[in-house]
Amino acid sequence: MTPKSTLDEFALFGGEPAFGHKLHVGQPNIGDRAHFLDRVNRIFDSRWLTNNGEAVQELERRLGEHLGVKHVIAVCNATVGLEIAIRAMPMEGEVIVPSLTFVATAHALQWQQITPVFCDVDPVTHNLDPEQVRRLITPRTTGILGVHLWGRPCDVDALQAIADEHRLHLLFDAAHAFGCSHQGRMVGNFGRAEVFSFHATKFFNTFEGGAITTNDDALAAKIRLMTNFGFAGYDNVVHVGTNGKMNEVCAAMGLTSLQALDGFIATNRTNADTYAERLARIPGMKLCRYDTTERNNFQYVVVEYMPQPGGPSRDDLIRLLWAENVMARKYFWPGCHRMEPYRTLFPTVGERLPQTEAIADRLMILPTGTGMNTASIHALCDLLELAVAQGPALSARLGAL
Ligand SMILES: *Cc1c(COP(=O)(O)O)cnc(C)c1O
Repeated sequence: MTPKSTLDEFALFGGEPAFGHKLHVGQPNIGDRAHFLDRVNRIFDSRWLTNNGEAVQELERRLGEHLGVKHVIAVCNATVGLEIAIRAMPMEGEVIVPSLTFVATAHALQWQQITPVFCDVDPVTHNLDPEQVRRLITPRTTGILGVHLWGRPCDVDALQAIADEHRLHLLFDAAHAFGCSHQGRMVGNFGRAEVFSFHATKFFNTFEGGAITTNDDALAAKIRLMTNFGFAGYDNVVHVGTNGKMNEVCAAMGLTSLQALDGFIATNRTNADTYAERLARIPGMKLCRYDTTERNNFQYVVVEYMPQPGGPSRDDLIRLLWAENVMARKYFWPGCHRMEPYRTLFPTVGERLPQTEAIADRLMILPTGTGMNTASIHALCDLLELAVAQGPALSARLGAL
């Protein structure tokens, strides 16, 4: 790490990058290698590579215990998991969903000819605004698909009340919320079902993977069938289905990650505390805080940046950081509604999404996880502090590049 004290020392203006290697948001956390490799050897010895093998069964059982939920169905990824859960309910017609999310949430609906009805979010929690959800219900609405963004649970109780009142299916995209709780109960237990992602960039990973959780026996049985082509036994297909199965090597990675889970969370928490202390001193930077009375995974360091007059913009800072090998991200800019096919299908929908658009323009996600430590966070924050302190001088120099 190379400390800098003037603008000329920034990599964009001719200096050396502050970091010798790229710091990524969502860089994978990797548990104990020997444990993983031992499990993989056992998989090879058994010659059982997929189709509800021992590792998948063990992972489902352990996840169920961890979350206190009755049914866990491991899947190949969260996008397919969402598609299956949506179809199993079944959701049809229109489904109310936030636009401030990873595009897979909306695609899982659109992929099966269900109209995503984009709803604005609460400016503080970044989650679905229940009041607007209520206003968007039409005779074609069959469900609400909430996202626990950054691992912070939606207003589950308000959404459940609306779903009950209007007889709607309530599903949660819990891709960010593994290990998080709401009123002391683990995420995974809310709505009719919830879907987790265990993609490599999520803090708990199985390379690719995910899980659908529910306490509804009939729904769980249907989801299991649909995940495996509708097979109810050898040669007996009783339902339309797809291939959503998790394989054994992914499950072995999941069991390895599960063993290391508390350590991953502790690292994220220490990192989050360091960021909080440093970012509080930089004008215009607001770190999204987690409810410390709940369980959190702290996997996202989410900053809302509002520049001082004439100061560097969010995009200026990101450009500057990238040159220093800090690959900060703008998740989930520009919002699903400004991506295709939604931009063409619903060209004016942004008018009812002012919070989504404002937040998406302010967000800056900074790297955390086991690839970061206190020293690297201080060095990163030094860069941000110095950059912001330059004010209009920095914008002018960037403009001249
Ligand atoms: C990562 C993510 C997904 C997709 O997960 P995959 O396992 O990669 O399919 C869905 N929704 C959200 C909010 C995500 O962040």
